Amino acid sequence: MEADSDIKTTPKGFHCTLCNVNLPNVPSLDQHVKGRKHKTLSTVRSTRKSQEQHSVFVSGIKPDISQTDVAEYFQQFGSVSDVIMDKDKGVYAIVQFSETDSIQATLSRVEHRMKGLKLRVKPREKKDFKLIPKKKNDFQDLQQVLDRLKPQLCQLMSVDAQMLYLVERCQLGENEKKARGLLVQLLQEVFVEFFPDSHILPFGSSVNTFGIHSCDLDLFLDLENTKVFQARAKSTPEQAGEGMSDDGRSEDSILSDIDLSTASPAEVLELVATILRRCVPSVHKVHVVSNARLPVVKFHHRELNLHGDITLNNRLAVRNTRFLQLCSGVEDRLRPLVYTIRYWAKQKQLAGNPSGAGPLLNNYALTLLIIFFLQNCDPPVLPTVDRLKDMACEEEECVLEGWDCTFPSQPIAVPPSKNTQDLCTLLAGFFSFYAKFDFASSVISVREGRALPITDFLAQNKEKEAMQEEQPTKTHHQGPKLGPLNLLDPFELSHNVAGNLNERSHRIFQRECQEADKYCRSLQYQRKSTKGKSWGLVRLLTPHGEVPHAKAEQMIISIPFKSASLPEVLRDQLHRAGDGFRLLWFQKVCSAAEGVFQSVLRCHLTPSSDAAFGRDTAVDAAEEMETASSSFNTSMNDSCDSVESRSETSPLGTAVPGGKRPLSSGSDASASPQGKKPRLAKRGKPEVPHWICAQRHMVWAGRRKVRRELIKDTDSRPEGSCMELESQVTDHIIKTEAELKDPLEFKVQPQMVGETESTKAVLKFEPTSDKTGVFHDFFHFLEAFLPKMVETLIEREVGST
Ligand code: ATP
Ligand code: MG
Repeated sequence: MEADSDIKTTPKGFHCTLCNVNLPNVPSLDQHVKGRKHKTLSTVRSTRKSQEQHSVFVSGIKPDISQTDVAEYFQQFGSVSDVIMDKDKGVYAIVQFSETDSIQATLSRVEHRMKGLKLRVKPREKKDFKLIPKKKNDFQDLQQVLDRLKPQLCQLMSVDAQMLYLVERCQLGENEKKARGLLVQLLQEVFVEFFPDSHILPFGSSVNTFGIHSCDLDLFLDLENTKVFQARAKSTPEQAGEGMSDDGRSEDSILSDIDLSTASPAEVLELVATILRRCVPSVHKVHVVSNARLPVVKFHHRELNLHGDITLNNRLAVRNTRFLQLCSGVEDRLRPLVYTIRYWAKQKQLAGNPSGAGPLLNNYALTLLIIFFLQNCDPPVLPTVDRLKDMACEEEECVLEGWDCTFPSQPIAVPPSKNTQDLCTLLAGFFSFYAKFDFASSVISVREGRALPITDFLAQNKEKEAMQEEQPTKTHHQGPKLGPLNLLDPFELSHNVAGNLNERSHRIFQRECQEADKYCRSLQYQRKSTKGKSWGLVRLLTPHGEVPHAKAEQMIISIPFKSASLPEVLRDQLHRAGDGFRLLWFQKVCSAAEGVFQSVLRCHLTPSSDAAFGRDTAVDAAEEMETASSSFNTSMNDSCDSVESRSETSPLGTAVPGGKRPLSSGSDASASPQGKKPRLAKRGKPEVPHWICAQRHMVWAGRRKVRRELIKDTDSRPEGSCMELESQVTDHIIKTEAELKDPLEFKVQPQMVGETESTKAVLKFEPTSDKTGVFHDFFHFLEAFLPKMVETLIEREVGST
């Protein structure tokens, strides 16, 4: 089979040479081979191969020869299915026949003459099909720019000077801006021919003052006036002037094909694409992307080497571009910060999705994060959007699609900031701010300049639906799509501009902020090296991978708070718990983790003298929370750095500071696994709650195989998605495999982290007896298994309440 020859065995698993990917094991290999990428590439390869086998390469033609001329000439050797010509120079062609026999017939002719030209005909070269790596992107361009900039940057005297230098070198030059302006003008002239009274407006980085040399040209084609024109022409055909037919469409024009009041955006964009292809010189690679959040026509301008996007119905983007322009005019320090942080994010591969869609931050979202940070400096560097609204005058009022987009049109209307921090400090401040930011429990509002509690949004869609039912005539916008990073658009308040981020990209973003924060505290950042070494921005902007991350070997498993994937019932409970939501969620996690150890992995559990991991109900906990949450949260957050320092903050039923009732007192004796009631911590030296676990079997080894056998391929449930199945797998292993000579014993200490960093439950593991040396294997298995299984158990538990 062809696919087999693509797969090579490597010391680390497998490598697919067709797709250039490494696969660690057989299941991932199976999945890959059945996946879309592999299938598509296999199909493309066989199509190419077939094309190669059916075609000849013809050179010696002249630019005035057409495809039809070539096809007509070669028809004498067999049916021609396609002719591909090099468009630019017109000197060669590939002639594709329907039958392979025609190739022999063509090649056996000694001389080919066509329209007085002597043609050279060769068999088509057989090329190995290779996945062409994605075109060099602006990240690589940036890398080259950095290499060139390094010596100059190192010679400058301060980080501030380095940041200003970076802006100078990266920003769009005057000529580039002019060229873009001319292209916009040309497009305006072309489009107005087809869409009377239409306007084409640039937005995004070309005009928001943050553009770099290679940035794309974002355009909004405003057809509102054209619609009016069409409607008017329909009602009064005689006034519409020449060339209009009775139905209000212009004759001889492409517009006659379409009625803008009824056409879908995709239809209009197809028309825009046709106009670009046919009427705008040097424009190529035109295609419509209709499945994007905002459908778009993409194109490339050959001479200017410029990628462009045209969207319809995108007034909000034009307005938010104006907002960024305003911020830039109000505060001079914004531009150097944005350029530096965009550059940093690109180098660390945190931002910029090459195809537009992807799980990374886009530059707009990143800029909003910077603005939000500046709003939160003390004193603030930038005002909130609500404050800006108050500074606007009546004529500046602006409402788009129901959203208030009012702000002053001129920077002069905004009083200067009282904050005098330099760029070096602000840049370090940005990293420090987001290094500690509790993304999991916040929704960032640039509008209000503060982080809103996630709990306000957990039950929002339900509430909005209810309001919509009550007042069907009013539009009640649905809540934002929640994810690991929630950043509300300043105007379209139901839109999370970072809603595309996945857990991984968010985690890496925060980790890089932490790394940068650490670096910014070093002398290397703040002081010029006297020995000519890299310092300041240079090290900060070193690409991902070149500075190794020190990975602390800690036996810790983190279970992040993922608001987006919580079951609806739990979202409601957390919403009601308000400030106490962390604790309630933490209890659920602990209860589920206990279930995993005890019921799924059949560990023998001994609770610590103080801990009882009861499975109290959410409702009990929420009620308790009202009395206990404030003191809990304070103490919890005060002591989130070390487990030991947190000994007073028992999340699981031990003594509560200030004599409050224990939180999980709702767990009665029968619900507690060992049937023990929680006891108070020993006076003087309270203990951290923990489990002592003993495992007599290697229940982690060979699970996949057992699972496959048990489900007999009738079901392809992924690991950790079904409690019964996983318990059966364990039982099977226990029944069939020998016991460990010495049981493995380990201690698990759960702790709650949040507010000064992303909310998560952290489980610290410590082997207490591991004579057979298996703990590491077990721990690595748990790293993936435990978080998934906890999620499954939480879902199951709330589903049953
Ligand atoms: P660059 O093109 O250099 O990456 P940009 O600022 O132009 O930077 P784009 O991703 O091209 O960023 O987006 C262009 C514009 O579209 C933004 O300036 C913003 O006005 C709007 N925009 C982009 N993404 C979003 C989003 N997620 N939500 C709302 N508006 C957005
Ligand atoms: Mg852009």
